[in-house]
Amino acid sequence: MLGHGGCQVSKLKLILLATVLTFATHFVLSQPVSGSSLPFKFQNNYLKFEPPGLFDFLKWRWNALVDGHPKPVQAPIPKVDADLEFIHTNAKAGDRMQPTITWVGHATALVQFAGLNMLTDPIFSERASPLTLIGPKRAQPPAIALKDLPHIDLVLISHNHYDHLDEASVRSLASQPRGSPLFLVPAGVKSWFNGVGISNVVELMWWQSHHVQSPMGSVEIVFTPVQHWSGRTLADRMDTLWGGFAVFADDFHFFHVGDTSYSPDFQDIAKRFADRQPDHGFDLVLIPIGAYAPRWFMKDQHVDPVEGVQIHKDLRARQSVAYHWGTFSLSDEALDDPPVALSAARRKLGVSESAFAAISIGQTLKLPSRTAH
Ligand code: ZN
Ligand code: ZN
Repeated sequence: MLGHGGCQVSKLKLILLATVLTFATHFVLSQPVSGSSLPFKFQNNYLKFEPPGLFDFLKWRWNALVDGHPKPVQAPIPKVDADLEFIHTNAKAGDRMQPTITWVGHATALVQFAGLNMLTDPIFSERASPLTLIGPKRAQPPAIALKDLPHIDLVLISHNHYDHLDEASVRSLASQPRGSPLFLVPAGVKSWFNGVGISNVVELMWWQSHHVQSPMGSVEIVFTPVQHWSGRTLADRMDTLWGGFAVFADDFHFFHVGDTSYSPDFQDIAKRFADRQPDHGFDLVLIPIGAYAPRWFMKDQHVDPVEGVQIHKDLRARQSVAYHWGTFSLSDEALDDPPVALSAARRKLGVSESAFAAISIGQTLKLPSRTAH
């Protein structure tokens, strides 16, 4: 019996160790490669954020282990085959391109507008981790393989956490036929890109903008505050910036939130751009709805679906699409919980199901052009 009990204890220890290592790669520990060359730390506008300490991290992981979180999914995560024929035809349509979003998985989306093909926070790897054997593992493959993408013109990177900045994915994109896309990244992240041999990079501070030429004229992209943090190692936390991207083309106003907790930053963003959006706000906002439980650990890092719907309202979005759920299990809620919670949140805040859509992985949503009435 003693032997059996000892075996149980060591099995429990092993499970705990494996769990800690798995989640540590996302939240606390990581490889000793720093991306920043800046001599100061960044901070949020409305919350003095302290990255999670080891004690809180272990408390969270222990409670999750004892309570058995995350629970298994009740139903498969909705997926459809990507309509590659349409995507590739639209990709080459120039000034006749229809604005679309195709959800590739997690925070990765292919957004087509103004004759441009753009990716948000591309991750196509098996794990969101610096390691190949440890770290959050995909529950489903990306809806479009890297080799099946159209030529990508532009990549937006919201911050340097592993599930948003994946080295293998950006390296592969940089070596696509006909040349590297332009990578727009937060201040401090450019040196990391240069370090992996990628040079077509522009880094931005909050409210700084960059213009790119499209078949439909100039497109302005503004980097905005959101409430989050950064870090790929224990040593570089808050060394590089994080944020959202507001993209303004004649036919399409788009916002990529990335990771955020809820803050008045979204009202500030709406106010800042109100003059150029007299009738309604953004035509498309990508809003994270996953990785929110437990609230005591996550609320300063990630919104829950109610707060996500509030962001939709703050930004006066014509259409929002939910992302950052269904692929990587990063928190205590089950992988299929977020859209259920989103339904309740929409009802609570009076937003229709179509206005803030939980689309399937691989689904393409075709959106009206801003210039068409
Ligand atoms: Zn993050
Ligand atoms: Zn994330």
